[in-house]
Amino acid sequence: MPQKPSSHLGRYGERTRLVHAGRDPFQQHGFVNTPIYRGSTVLYPTTDDFLHRRAPFTYGTHGTPTIRSLETAWSDLAGAATTVLTPSGLAAITIALMSAVKAGDHILVTDSVYRPTRTFCEGMLTRFGIETTYYDPAVGAGIAALMRPNTTVVFTEAPGSQTFEMQDIPAIAKIAHAAGACVMMDNTWATPLFFPPHERGVDICIEAGTKYLSGGSDLLLGLTSANEAWAKRLRTTFDAFAMCAGPEDVFLGLRGLRTMALRLREHEKQAFDMARWLAERPEVARVLHPGLESDPGHAIWKRDFTGASGLFTVILKEASPAALAAMLDGLELFGMGASWGGFESLVLPFDPATYRTATRWQAEGPALRFHIGLEDLDDLKRDLDAGFARLRAG
Ligand SMILES: *Cc1c(COP(=O)(O)O)cnc(C)c1O
Repeated sequence: MPQKPSSHLGRYGERTRLVHAGRDPFQQHGFVNTPIYRGSTVLYPTTDDFLHRRAPFTYGTHGTPTIRSLETAWSDLAGAATTVLTPSGLAAITIALMSAVKAGDHILVTDSVYRPTRTFCEGMLTRFGIETTYYDPAVGAGIAALMRPNTTVVFTEAPGSQTFEMQDIPAIAKIAHAAGACVMMDNTWATPLFFPPHERGVDICIEAGTKYLSGGSDLLLGLTSANEAWAKRLRTTFDAFAMCAGPEDVFLGLRGLRTMALRLREHEKQAFDMARWLAERPEVARVLHPGLESDPGHAIWKRDFTGASGLFTVILKEASPAALAAMLDGLELFGMGASWGGFESLVLPFDPATYRTATRWQAEGPALRFHIGLEDLDDLKRDLDAGFARLRAG
């Protein structure tokens, strides 16, 4: 049951839509926000209504007013025909893939993909007779050479959330569509605010709401949106799994949505400042941030994106594991941990060489992924300055 798109908001700007989308105060006694509906059973007033399932809501797994609020708002923001909410970003990815594959299919997945997506393809999809080929994220129109008669999905992620390669999504979509394949994108980094996925040719798009929709590192949520062509398949698959999100998390997602544009612009500003500062450091070999003029993906970013979020990577010059650990262990403000998108700054070391298959990861030294939060930049720089001193001493 795809929800009606809230097309009446289309004439407004993005920030206005973020404030108004998916709310109907006079359905809630005038209260500004849709409350948390919890529930399994939905009662029908008459036998006739029950037999014909004539009600806006039919059972807890098929949605509640709280869920419908965020689905509608997200469809409006993403320019989608429908959105389903899942209990995590990874669940949003698996629901997207399960909507489009069947036994005997072949799918193409970018080598820069979020690593658990790779695990799902290799573990689960292989078991069901679906073959995955990883491709160079910079492939562009060259994807044509990798398409087989049974290729049904081209999965993209731009930029890659560790290594930050950009992808030419419109060029890839054109070729995939000509072959009848479904184009998927993990758009968690940009959100629809900085990259309008469906307008650029993406059929099914994934957002880990755990990141910027939350903004607080306090919930797990996934959003999978689809264009008109894929809306029904996505909704049917979602209903079959009943992989529904929890009411509190959805409510917090709605709360985050209202301020997401402001937070993203601030993360963007802070991250640009830190990325430029880091690029000047003698300990740093390169900064991977598509918004920087020096980045190989900058031209595509400039053409297709309207902003950059707070996540980027720094390649250090050669350093010993002990020196790197001394640098990171002594940091006072940067936390070390997975996930990102919250108000706090994070850093983590990673090594793509251990899992890449289609491309060879070449780096001068260790890679550090940074998420820049909302702290004072001077404090963050002092923290890293002291860290770099420990790195040099090691
Ligand atoms: C975090 C993340 C996900 C998964 O989100 P979870 O809610 O943690 O499952 C998916 N894609 C990208 C790019 C992410 O960074």
